[in-house]
Amino acid sequence: MDIGFIGLGQMGAAIAANLLKSGHQVAVWNRSERKARSLVEAGAVLADLPRTAAAGKSVVFSMLADDAALDSVVAGENGLGAGLAKGALHISMSTISVATAERQTAEHHARGQRFLCAPVFGRPEAAAAGKLYIVAAGDPADLRLAAPLFEAIGQRVFPVGQQPSAANLVKLCGNFMILSAIESLAEAMTLAEKGGVPRAQLLEVMTGSLFDAPVFRNYGKALVDGRFKPAGFAAPLGLKDMRLAGQSADALRVPMPLLGVLRDHLLQTIAVEGEDIDWSGIGLTIAKNGGL
Ligand code: NAP
Repeated sequence: MDIGFIGLGQMGAAIAANLLKSGHQVAVWNRSERKARSLVEAGAVLADLPRTAAAGKSVVFSMLADDAALDSVVAGENGLGAGLAKGALHISMSTISVATAERQTAEHHARGQRFLCAPVFGRPEAAAAGKLYIVAAGDPADLRLAAPLFEAIGQRVFPVGQQPSAANLVKLCGNFMILSAIESLAEAMTLAEKGGVPRAQLLEVMTGSLFDAPVFRNYGKALVDGRFKPAGFAAPLGLKDMRLAGQSADALRVPMPLLGVLRDHLLQTIAVEGEDIDWSGIGLTIAKNGGL
């Protein structure tokens, strides 16, 4: 298929590379052009604007940092929205707010374009291995069109309905749960270590018994190794997701007291350790607060 791909950060570059490898023709655009170089060497076509990356394509993907990045890439005479043909499909993979997903859906439909939300679970390593979990929502015909493309980049697709924003709500719930798991692991490890039990031993007991899940195994290992830089998922992006989850909780009148704790620990971690730390770096904050 002849497709466009906009946003070549840690996730987008890996996803676009897999689409290329599976034989699709891919036109790429990124705000900082240097990140497109290796893809162009691998056969991608460099687009000079989001508009040209989308023009003439039946499908264009976007994988951008946040709501503001998506809005700025879609809008204006040089934007994706101006280039995408009527009836063509935009697949938004960024983790964005429910409200922005709803507005983008309406604006695409007003231009006669189709819009699917397909945020993902999995870090850059999983993206490179084509092992992402894709949460997708939108028109069933769009999901069918996207299916072979999703096959090239993910290990499983979870369709969650026809309203595209539902996929973003599920993604935000998931990130809230991941950070809750990191928080509980880090608190328990700090307690165990201060009481004389190595954190690796605690992890072995927990993942070998009641907590045998990828989120505990993978983030548990990162916490044991104290491996927080370079960030695979930067803490400011995690902070953005807690804020977006909070916006949905406010709108739907759902109290989420734990969300406030997670947000504060992330903020403290970024303030003390810097913008370039992984979100699992809240483990450092918790250990330091616990006197380790
Ligand atoms: P990243 O490496 O920071 O990449 C962000 C991308 O957004 C870059 O292409 C960046 O362009 C672009 N961008 C930012 N602001 C922009 C603007 N105003 N206009 C145009 N482009 C802009 O982030 P990532 O880790 O790939 O994450 C991308 C999305 O996936 C985020 O929504 C994130 O929450 C989500 N996600 C990440 C992970 C993970 O583990 N990393 C996992 C699942 C989902 P430049 O290169 O020019 O800065």
